Amino acid sequence: PIEKNKTNQEQLSEPFFERDKGILIVISGPSCAGKGSVCKIICKNNPDLRLSVSETTREPRNYEKNGRDYFYVSKESFEERITQGQYLEYATVYQNYYGTPKDYVEQLLDSGYDVILEIDIQGAAKVRSNYKEGIYIFIVPPSMQELRRRIEERGTESKEQMEMRLNCAYEEMRNADDYSYIVINDKLEEAARRVQSIITAEKCRTERLKNKIEDILGR
Ligand code: 5GP
Repeated sequence: PIEKNKTNQEQLSEPFFERDKGILIVISGPSCAGKGSVCKIICKNNPDLRLSVSETTREPRNYEKNGRDYFYVSKESFEERITQGQYLEYATVYQNYYGTPKDYVEQLLDSGYDVILEIDIQGAAKVRSNYKEGIYIFIVPPSMQELRRRIEERGTESKEQMEMRLNCAYEEMRNADDYSYIVINDKLEEAARRVQSIITAEKCRTERLKNKIEDILGR
């Protein structure tokens, strides 16, 4: 029950109306590969695209905002919501819980929005089993040296946390071939253009447009 060009809150209180279902886009990649920056650019350029805001038990970084970057919740309330089945997927990443709110994402999709999930490889594996028709994109840095530089430059984690994120990155990179597309983020604008091109091409796939042919023939 969500209408386009309204705020999220307005949309969620609207009555349901039929639309073509939106497409789920899953973006993964190691910490500091640039997933968040790429997502911001493509969402800005595409009003039919929404970025799902996850819930997490990690502490907010000083530039992050509750409700925009994440919903910051306690471990207890996260675990309660797990038992209530309120997550489309969730995972423990770098010792914290992260999860995708189920109702919100499903309502957006039902209303015709395309939805981006920026989630880790464990979460993506769970989503893949339920949303085979989704678009799965893996974003990687041009080199591991550059990844280290970006993690250190962001400087939002302790030295120990930075090392953990870097070590996990090697493991995560080995999962790249579970995804349909790999985008190397050397230059941010170019990486965003590539992700946009993938989405555009995917939306033109015959499987997604078969019904439209009947509509056109009937006009
Ligand atoms: P960060 O702490 O750097 O914001 O995120 C850490 C990792 O958690 C990133 O790989 C990010 O994609 C992932 N992540 C963020 N939200 C979710 C979520 O809802 N589910 C899962 N499985 N991973 C998430």
